[in-house]
Amino acid sequence: MIVGILKEIKIAENRVCMTPAGVETMVHNNHKVLVEKNAGKGSGFTNKAYEKAGAVIVSSAKEIFKKADMVMHVKEPQPSEYDLIRKDQIVFTYLHLAAEEKLTKALIKAKSVNIAYETIQKADRSLPLLTPMSEVAGRMAAQEGANYLQMTKGGRGILLGGVPGVEPGVVVVIGGGVVGINAAQMACGLGGKVYLMDTNLDRLRYLREVMPSNCFPVMSSKPKLRELLKKADLVIGAVLIPGAKAPKLVTRDMLKGMKKGAVMVDVAIDQGGCFETSKATTHDDPVFTVDGVVHYCVANMPGAVAKTSTLALTNATLPYALEIANKGWKKACRENREIKLGVNIVDGKVTYSAVADAFGLKF
Ligand code: NAD
Repeated sequence: MIVGILKEIKIAENRVCMTPAGVETMVHNNHKVLVEKNAGKGSGFTNKAYEKAGAVIVSSAKEIFKKADMVMHVKEPQPSEYDLIRKDQIVFTYLHLAAEEKLTKALIKAKSVNIAYETIQKADRSLPLLTPMSEVAGRMAAQEGANYLQMTKGGRGILLGGVPGVEPGVVVVIGGGVVGINAAQMACGLGGKVYLMDTNLDRLRYLREVMPSNCFPVMSSKPKLRELLKKADLVIGAVLIPGAKAPKLVTRDMLKGMKKGAVMVDVAIDQGGCFETSKATTHDDPVFTVDGVVHYCVANMPGAVAKTSTLALTNATLPYALEIANKGWKKACRENREIKLGVNIVDGKVTYSAVADAFGLKF
């Protein structure tokens, strides 16, 4: 199969969908890999490194769309690419179609085979191509929170780990899923006193077993949250209710009881945010203050650590890309239900119910 690696063109996106190591694996499996010039630049991979791995560097996206059997991206195809997508061409990337009506219509029109990273699902219902980015965002949340707690950054001047003779900072993580456990692990590693809240008792039992002794998994409820917010130096919002907007768990009223200069990192901002006072920010201007509490609400946190994010993402995507390339998409879907669940639109027909429902399309 000819596999095309496209350069990301969405604003501020520095990741790339395949590393030179991934290219080498593809080539070893007898596939030809075309890489758009400078596709890896933002993540620190040179054209030479791709060539050394066996790729052919091509100068334009147009050429890749023209020649490749499967094109890969990180973000969804952008409007300038819609008309380049060919009938029966496999498009393998994050698509998030339920939020993108124009793209959905373009892919229906193109009659391509569109496989979305975000709907590939394992038997235990986990989403293996979303997990790595939640891991990155969770870990970053603790790091960013610690950073903005510094006085020079508008915070209350607290060192999360304290020092001998001085108490550590208090961290409250709301949601103990992938983001939450990663945020709590980092905050614990920095020496903070970490409360990790969730509503799922089985999850709390698991967290109690695996987390270090400075982590306290607690049942999430409004009164408990109100109590912990008063003590908190850093609050990290990491809840998810699948398929729904994030619940507003921290209300504006609750901020009044918090310490001035405390920091709140709303990782769930990409689902609308779990603090009432959150509004999405960017890496260029990441924070704002409400009632003396610093808010960090960047919607694409992994973009700031493009190299780590690229490696984490491609570790997860490569086995699927390889299976699709080795078997062809039809056989790959027949033999691997995880890939089958990734198929969103084929030959002009929507095959993923949530996408059809979002736009009242036939399923
Ligand atoms: P997850 O499903 O692994 O975990 C969510 C957890 O929230 C679950 O354990 C669930 O039981 C818990 N929860 C639900 N309601 C709760 C409540 N009322 N109180 C406490 N806990 C509650 O999801 P995840 O992968 O950890 O993702 C969390 C959020 O982070 C999502 O909104 C996701 O989209 C977002 N995210 C954002 C970025 C970013 O760059 N901003 C990156 C990755 C993920």
